[in-house]
Amino acid sequence: MVTAVMPTYGRIDIAFDYGEGSYLYTATGERYLDFATGIATNSLGHAHPHLVKKLQEQAGKLWHVSNLYNIPEQQRFADRLVDNSFADTVFFCNSGAEAIEGALKVARKYQFANGRPERDQIVCATGSFHGRTLTTLSAGDNDKYREGFGPRPGGFKHVAFGNLNEMRAAMDETTAAILVEPIQGEGGINPATAEYLRELRKIADEFDALLIFDEVQCGMSRSGSLFAYSLARMEPDVMGLAKGIGGGFPVGAVLATEKAAAGMVPGTHGSTYGGNPLAMAAANAVLDVMLEPDFLSSVREKGDYLKNQLDNLANSYPNIIDSVRGTGLMLGLKCCISNLDLMTEFRNQKLLTVVAGDNVLRVLPPLNVEINELDEAVEIMSKVCKTMPT
Ligand SMILES: *Cc1c(COP(=O)(O)O)cnc(C)c1O
Repeated sequence: MVTAVMPTYGRIDIAFDYGEGSYLYTATGERYLDFATGIATNSLGHAHPHLVKKLQEQAGKLWHVSNLYNIPEQQRFADRLVDNSFADTVFFCNSGAEAIEGALKVARKYQFANGRPERDQIVCATGSFHGRTLTTLSAGDNDKYREGFGPRPGGFKHVAFGNLNEMRAAMDETTAAILVEPIQGEGGINPATAEYLRELRKIADEFDALLIFDEVQCGMSRSGSLFAYSLARMEPDVMGLAKGIGGGFPVGAVLATEKAAAGMVPGTHGSTYGGNPLAMAAANAVLDVMLEPDFLSSVREKGDYLKNQLDNLANSYPNIIDSVRGTGLMLGLKCCISNLDLMTEFRNQKLLTVVAGDNVLRVLPPLNVEINELDEAVEIMSKVCKTMPT
């Protein structure tokens, strides 16, 4: 008989009761170091006092009114995103897939509004992941996720991630936009080079297409910069955010320049929940912490520290770990053994990590992790590697 919860996930048989900082606890008192962070989503760990306080205050005041009315907390969050990014305007939704759908709608509507309705094609990259709605399955590059779901929205092409010649060759007078992740997450922590991103900017401009970045996973400080695109010292036209933006509360956002959002006039897009007072209280609280003066430099420092330790581990156990990938606290171990086996052994030793494509194991600590917690994780990893059969 089918389980009451539709069995779409291959779940690990553990349930957590509460969390505190970088740790999760089961009801029986077992403690786990959480370097999976709900897939890069608990950006500030668990039960962060500032987030708890702000959410509790808002919960007693007002949860939801819909976008029929002004939502001051939403306007404040949009202003702060605009002040701290390339964007001039923001649309709020509730998830990463919705953010990317919204970004695609912005791009196609931009072309339409500029008298070029024939420009509706999106060029995407191999190894990409953009969500599980039918349209974002078209944009992503994973046949396994698409099989059996019938016709999908068309208008998507895929070219090799990192290959500028292929990108250029795929562009023509029907192209609406380029869509890429500056650091691929699900695909296996594959950072684009700064040169690639800057050239994408030029190609998009040359062909009158928009450049969309999916920063659902790599955005919101994960890379050590508030947004990963600024590491390449360039800017997209449109960007999707989710995951870390709400610190665990479901929030998504589509950021765009004024030019790119030209077609998004009243009535063109909407969401019932999107940007509701409760979600925006959570998101504003997350941003309060991320905009503190030393926050990003400490993410970078901790990222460098952890990467260095993981490099040492890879050198000590070359039959288990081939190499270490990523930037900031978005790191991945390219495994020589099965990434699933390594994740399981780490978990048996009370360290949580999460697998990705290309046989990579993602190491995604909270961004406010303590150095001694990084040491604790590396110690567990060493212990596992020492005894792991290869
Ligand atoms: C997780 C993810 C998505 C989808 O987000 P959901 O909230 O699961 O819909 C889209 N793009 C990237 C890069 C992601 O990592």
